[in-house]
Amino acid sequence: MIHPPDRPSALGAGGANAIAFAIGVVADEWTLLILRHALQRDVLRFQDWQELLPISSAVLTSRLRHLCEAGVLVPQEYDDRPRRFEYHLSPRGAALWPVLATIGAWELAWATDHGERVTPLRHRDCGRHFEPVPACRTCAEPVTQREITAAFGPSGSWPRSAPNTTMRRRSSGSTSLGAGFFPQSRALIGNRWSAAMLGAAYLGAHRFSEFQRRLGAPATVVADRLRTFRDLGVLTASGSADRSNRSTYRLTDKGRAFLPVVMSAIDWGQRWFLAPEGPAVVLGHRGTGHEYALLLLCSECRAPLSGRSIEAAASV
Ligand SMILES: [Zn+2]
Ligand SMILES: [Zn+2]
Repeated sequence: MIHPPDRPSALGAGGANAIAFAIGVVADEWTLLILRHALQRDVLRFQDWQELLPISSAVLTSRLRHLCEAGVLVPQEYDDRPRRFEYHLSPRGAALWPVLATIGAWELAWATDHGERVTPLRHRDCGRHFEPVPACRTCAEPVTQREITAAFGPSGSWPRSAPNTTMRRRSSGSTSLGAGFFPQSRALIGNRWSAAMLGAAYLGAHRFSEFQRRLGAPATVVADRLRTFRDLGVLTASGSADRSNRSTYRLTDKGRAFLPVVMSAIDWGQRWFLAPEGPAVVLGHRGTGHEYALLLLCSECRAPLSGRSIEAAASV
């Protein structure tokens, strides 16, 4: 499936929706690392990614192919003996910067126990290291999770929001452990049930039975993901600890802080992948009467961020 990279692609009626498509692209660590170098260091060539990343030729080849099929990268021949290609970000690919910026900021702030240091970002306009602050594109006010309302739109449902196997890059062999750069983000959105469980938590699910009912997921899967989310400190459980069905699960500050990542991915998906029935999810800015779309502000100077105004800073 090749998508025209400069305009939104139409998705099939009744099939995977924009959320599924976005998760299928961004829930892979190698893909995020390839995009991070493309966005922040203008990397274009196979050998340059290979020099910068501990990635095998086979994995890099498969990820570049997937990103070209999704219209995120566009191959351009730069040598014909032998034929060699550069991979340029399309407008759709360049529009992924909020996902990268929010994942990097979250890992830096909350996932402090992994070995690989995430490079902080610098805002060119004010010259300072910053965190992206979620705000509302309509009124430009900063928002918290509680100020955003969400409901499934005409193409929304849990089954349609889960990426299918052709969208997801299944790792094999030694790469199945992931790249180790965004391990906690990967645990949160790296498979269909995790992403859906997180979505259900943001939409107000608190009990085991609510997660199970909303998602239609097997009980063992729900129990496994709840345990993972508790281990990561994204959810806390209160109530009877030994009877999971009686426990009440609540998002922690760490869990709520991940919301901008999810919002960025949804925002990107809904802008670039259109289901004929309409949007997958409809967001509102609570108490204002207007729809909600994500805007990211610089935490230091409060100016709206853009892809071109941010760069990777030297590690601190
Ligand atoms: Zn607003
Ligand atoms: Zn700034």
